[in-house]
Amino acid sequence: MKALKFGGSSVSTPERIRVVARIISEAATNERIVVVVSAFQGITNQLIHCARLAESGGRGYLASYKEIAKRHRTMLHELCGAKLSASDGQAVDQLLEELQESLKGISLLRQCPPRALDLVTSFGERLSAVIISSFLYRKRNQPSRYVDTRGLIVTDDNFTQATVLFDKTNRNLRRHFKKLFSGKPRNVIPIATGFIGATEDGRTTTIGRNGSDYSAAIIGAALNASIIEIWTDVDGILSADPAIVPSAFVLPGISFEEAMELSYFGAKVLHSATIAPAVAKKIPVLIKNTLNPVAAGTLISDKVPGAHRDSRVHSHPHPRSEAVAKGITSIDGITLFTLRGLRMVGVPGTAERLFRALADHRVNVILISQASSEHTICFAVTGSDAGRARKAIAHEFRFEFQNKITTFDENDRQTIVAIVGDGMKGTPGVSGKVFDALGRNNINISAIAQGASERNISFVVSHEQKVRAINVIHEAFFEQRTHLSLAIVGVGNIGSTLLRQLHQQRAYLNSQGFDVKVCGISDSKRFVISAEGIDLGRWKEQLATSRRRSNMKQFAQSMGALQLTNSALVDCTASPEVVDAYPEFVDANMHIITPNKKANVLPWQRYAELMEKMRDRQKYFLYEANVGAGLPVISTLHDLIASGDTIVKIEGMFSGTLSFIFNTYDGKKPFSALVAEARKRGYTEPDPRDDLSGQDVGRKLLILARQLGLPFDMKDIRIENLVAPALSRGAYSESFFGKYARYDGAMLRRYEKAKKKGAVLRYVGSLKNGRAAAGLQQYPAGHPFASTKGTDNIIAFTTQRYSVTPLIIQGPGAGADVTAMGVFSDILKLLHYLP
Ligand code: ASP
Ligand code: MG
Repeated sequence: MKALKFGGSSVSTPERIRVVARIISEAATNERIVVVVSAFQGITNQLIHCARLAESGGRGYLASYKEIAKRHRTMLHELCGAKLSASDGQAVDQLLEELQESLKGISLLRQCPPRALDLVTSFGERLSAVIISSFLYRKRNQPSRYVDTRGLIVTDDNFTQATVLFDKTNRNLRRHFKKLFSGKPRNVIPIATGFIGATEDGRTTTIGRNGSDYSAAIIGAALNASIIEIWTDVDGILSADPAIVPSAFVLPGISFEEAMELSYFGAKVLHSATIAPAVAKKIPVLIKNTLNPVAAGTLISDKVPGAHRDSRVHSHPHPRSEAVAKGITSIDGITLFTLRGLRMVGVPGTAERLFRALADHRVNVILISQASSEHTICFAVTGSDAGRARKAIAHEFRFEFQNKITTFDENDRQTIVAIVGDGMKGTPGVSGKVFDALGRNNINISAIAQGASERNISFVVSHEQKVRAINVIHEAFFEQRTHLSLAIVGVGNIGSTLLRQLHQQRAYLNSQGFDVKVCGISDSKRFVISAEGIDLGRWKEQLATSRRRSNMKQFAQSMGALQLTNSALVDCTASPEVVDAYPEFVDANMHIITPNKKANVLPWQRYAELMEKMRDRQKYFLYEANVGAGLPVISTLHDLIASGDTIVKIEGMFSGTLSFIFNTYDGKKPFSALVAEARKRGYTEPDPRDDLSGQDVGRKLLILARQLGLPFDMKDIRIENLVAPALSRGAYSESFFGKYARYDGAMLRRYEKAKKKGAVLRYVGSLKNGRAAAGLQQYPAGHPFASTKGTDNIIAFTTQRYSVTPLIIQGPGAGADVTAMGVFSDILKLLHYLP
């Protein structure tokens, strides 16, 4: 035997009721069923409203009554159509007449005591059950029988919240249904009213709002149903509120205890107390969706499906942890009180005094956390209880407060977040995982409590951090996918290439378990923000039509306001202003990825501060493209250091421009003409002196030196300038090459001198013995640096391990494509670092 309950939203329109009828017919083909229905959606509220109007006297309630009457009559006609028989219509008319009489009585007496209200609201379920039963019988040839539970469910006389008297109720139910099922016709389907019962002397009662679930559980338990199905308008119980966690999913199965914890902390769908009769008999309860009957739903039972109590928490890189935690819920509008300086250690009864005082003031304490060593006690109450709590404390501890050692403070707008799961019991490391994840995301926890059941870990965060906190926990416990949201600044060559690469690789990343979205884009004029992610097929239009003027601080704040869990700034500019705003992005909980060298060459003090800030906030700073564009220079260096190798020397050609010039220079074409040609080909900076000065090479050396822990600044690097001081000043103009030609002879002599020795000239930066220098050097023909081509970069690491032959990295070291690729590889790295 199965019990099926259909809630108000399942019986709101003729279409829905037709779906319900199909579900009923299908269920009834295999076994006996009992159906319990709610009033049509909204009717209970309308009846209460109508009763209140009647109570205020006059005939004002009539219009409301007529609406109610019309809705039910229309429903009956639309459902039964031509098949409608006179008796069906009469049954409904009679109920409506009775309802009108009751309302009239209320309006005459100008009084609506709870018992009258119960009588009025009972018509909702009675009408609904009668109409659905008629429909099944007339239109679908299902022998059905209307069951008015007022004759069966016996309660006390606590109207509107009546308590069920189970002995009598169970006896009635068993007797009634036994008779019904053994009579004729054989396969009759009872359609019973939810929500209502009666006192022993026959006065109508209701068992509390949304009581139909409870009715179904009472009936199902009395009749020893194999399962109780609660049909509603959602797919089941979710792992978290989908309005907060977009990737929340339907839990296939949870235990009775988990359901209880989840509903205590505000999970919607079902109040666990309503299924208590089912729990007592271990009858599973299945939540199903009338709007989507094929969805599996959530099964609440005494079994914990798939509970492995191992410690996968630590070993698995992306723990699904289905077994450990089941759901996350939260309660907003909490006020947290902290009492300090109480002599609680060794003074028995202090906590008792506090909680007695709170109880006396009718304050409901939701969470308590006590640190005995610090003499503090902390507790959370709902905002509406805060005033009374304050009064209770002020009074109870009035003598202690006089000595000024005892103080208390109060924080409103807090949220309690609770993680629930049977598997947490006895699984080590769960709370560690929770607080590690929160810490990494800079979420400040003001109180922690672990339920005595060990099935619940709760903590208090400020309201502003709630969304991020819940998402962080959801990702840590429930998601295999790693999410990353990016904010891109700069959409020039590199930025737009990167956006194209991200667009192209999205599906691939997804297949690898990475969900990478771009949630913000800014150029020098405007920015756009989208929490869901910007469509990378049309970011240009979106940016061009945005009305938000570019402003790095605001951009950072807007990103921060999204409360993302994993996010990173990708700075694709060369601008010092963006670097100035890095601290704001870090405060917005963002990692930083950039080809922009400006941060890594900041004056030491500022550089050190920025690095410290990132370390404090547990944020990654990735800048592979700072040296050698996409070539894995920085990561190789880090790997060498991390693996315990000692760096003896780093030497390399770090400038694609200078590399091209000296790879090509053969003494035939004058040096200045060659530089002019390189400029024409776009290999140099607009002002070629920026390349010839060696400053760019110097900056890269500085970056490498700082990787080795050397507290260097630019002044610590010796740089040979290939432009004489006289030509270095002033703005660049075409006339530069004419003047630069005067030095062609000197360069040619250096070249010839090297050539005589069988060597070539290369502009090289080197770092060795704590000294950094950049300049023109000779290399013998056999040396790896001698055989470079085009704009190649080449870097040689001589280390303790790579001592005989150095570790060499060589390849194109400039260009938007390879630079964007370096940035992309940082994004991949970050994805792998993220937990
Ligand atoms: N119709 C009642 C109410 O709205 C009972 C129920 O829907 O479960 O509270
Ligand atoms: Mg309801």
